[in-house]
Amino acid sequence: GERVVDIRAHEKGERFEELPMENFEGHTRAFIKVQDGCDRRCAYCVIPRARGASRSRSEESVVQELTALAAAGYKEVVLSGINLPSYGKDTGTDLVSLIEAAARVEGIERIRLGSLEPDLLSDEAIARMAAVKELCPQFHLSLQSGCTATLRRMRRVYTAEEYARVVEKLRAAFGGFASFTTDVIVGFPGETEDEFAESLAFVCAQKFLKVHVFPYSRRAGTPAADFPGQLTEAQKADRVHRLQTAADEVRGALAREMLGTEDTVLLEKAVSGSLFTGYTRLYLPVAVKAPGAAAGQIVTARLTEWDGERARAEVI
Ligand code: SF4
Repeated sequence: GERVVDIRAHEKGERFEELPMENFEGHTRAFIKVQDGCDRRCAYCVIPRARGASRSRSEESVVQELTALAAAGYKEVVLSGINLPSYGKDTGTDLVSLIEAAARVEGIERIRLGSLEPDLLSDEAIARMAAVKELCPQFHLSLQSGCTATLRRMRRVYTAEEYARVVEKLRAAFGGFASFTTDVIVGFPGETEDEFAESLAFVCAQKFLKVHVFPYSRRAGTPAADFPGQLTEAQKADRVHRLQTAADEVRGALAREMLGTEDTVLLEKAVSGSLFTGYTRLYLPVAVKAPGAAAGQIVTARLTEWDGERARAEVI
């Protein structure tokens, strides 16, 4: 009847723990974790202590699983990790090589990537990624703040300007057909109203398709937990609301700009006989009228309306 909690501490050089895929969305998109842990030390983050150093799943094992998924009918996969661009640093390979290998698996038609650290995307990596036609041009680039002074205190390793340059490079490499999503923390210790305003203006200028806004959360054992200038929960909630409202307006404007354009949609769920929900390559949620089609099929559709939640589209 005794409760035992016995957790082995992480050690340098430990190997990736093989796990089968994490979850499925319907039977169309599978999430595969290919990397774990992180070698960085952002001031607010417990992950390096909780998950240990960066380590990668072997390319062979990932390809094996992708082959099985493709055989089971999955067309889209999301490669994910705690610090995904670190993939392969411990095994002598790199993330782009893994993407290229995934694209060679017959039946895998769409590849998406989990969260990316902007400073780890070199010009060469971006150019090679742009050459993989199966890679959806939708990038979740971790930002955390659009104010360089706040980024410094967070111990992030890029400036807001450097971040913006990576976005520009990705956009250019994909011929202007790319979308970006991100995470932002508001109310980090010492974040002044001016710094928050700078972050908000930066976020709006990047034209993210989606922004996940989080209030700073004080985690015991992290340096930031003891930083001076902790904000109240009410101050943080107010900033979350202001930033999320502004970011959602940008999302609506971007979605409306896309009306009239065409993109492919992976039909995920049948809502009625001929109406399906799914996502475009740019990760815009859509409801597609596709008579005679079936879930799991990829169709080309034209976006016709935006209702604030998802776009309406018609198969061409
Ligand atoms: S925020 Fe991301 S990059 Fe920074 S320490 Fe945590 S997992 Fe690593």
